[in-house]
Amino acid sequence: MTRIAFIGLGNMGGGMAANQAKAQHHVRAFDLSAAALDKAAAAGCHPAGSVAEAVADAEVVITMLPAGPHVRGVYGEQVLAHAPKSALLIDCSTIDVDSARAVAGQAKAAGFRFADAPVSGGVMAAEAGTLAFMVGCDADDFAAVEAALAPMARVTIHAGDHGAGQAAKICNNMLLGVSMLGTCEAFALAEKLGLAADRFFEIASKSSGQCWSVSTYCPVPGVGPATPADRNYEGGFATAMMLKDLKLAQEAAARAGASTPMGAQAEALYALFDANGFGGKDFSAVLQMLRGRLAELS
Ligand code: NAD
Repeated sequence: MTRIAFIGLGNMGGGMAANQAKAQHHVRAFDLSAAALDKAAAAGCHPAGSVAEAVADAEVVITMLPAGPHVRGVYGEQVLAHAPKSALLIDCSTIDVDSARAVAGQAKAAGFRFADAPVSGGVMAAEAGTLAFMVGCDADDFAAVEAALAPMARVTIHAGDHGAGQAAKICNNMLLGVSMLGTCEAFALAEKLGLAADRFFEIASKSSGQCWSVSTYCPVPGVGPATPADRNYEGGFATAMMLKDLKLAQEAAARAGASTPMGAQAEALYALFDANGFGGKDFSAVLQMLRGRLAELS
């Protein structure tokens, strides 16, 4: 049994903390939301009244927070001041690379081991304990990080030094956003050319256009394996989340001097779709914008 402090019990963190409790760890949980804390308590976690109280005797601290400023605040103002120096600190939030490196630097200077470990997989994977973790940390710390994440993980991969986990996450999701838009454009063009979607699916899945967005997560309802497209684009990976990751990728590209014109175009298209009021829809629903059939999306 490990004493785990879990901070941030939202859509993702709630299920993740529950899986740590299910694995018989002692989970001291904290969130600003009383409802989230009640849910965690019902799942076997022990609610704490503050971050300081949650981390006071922790062996492992795990955070799952909305964005960089939350992570900088929670670590800089609370975790580093109140956790024992022996605690392993793991941030699973998706945040900008600079914040991840800044917090890692502060944590190391204070004598802590720290890892950025963002996840691939949504709320269902968080609940099922089947997330993919991409980890940025000192090589010597990876085995301990992997063991601490095990109850929540399908796979855990060491990406490199501090910040490499966040870099992997935003590069992967930029590629996903671009490939989904390309897939949607191809299906929209096929339709205009009179080519049936199920025929194009079968051909593209077995040809050089094949990719995850075509074969596993096809944006056309009723075509290919079951996806959010088959339930009016509900559930899945929200457009607002994709947009957040594309913005992080563009900010990182600007700072690094990388040329990412396709990523920039993907950000612009998802921003337009979000501004039309579809931030809550699965990101594959952007197909309907490209087909000029937004009105059919309720
Ligand atoms: P969420 O908004 O549901 O949960 C965030 C939680 O953090 C909230 O409950 C909030 O009250 C809490 N919080 C904020 N500031 C806090 C503080 N100072 N102290 C304690 N608690 C605080 O968000 P989510 O969907 O769970 O996402 C969390 C992270 O995971 C984000 O970085 C997101 O980008 C990433 N992510 C989400 C998904 C997804 O499908 N939802 C998938 C992969 C990665």
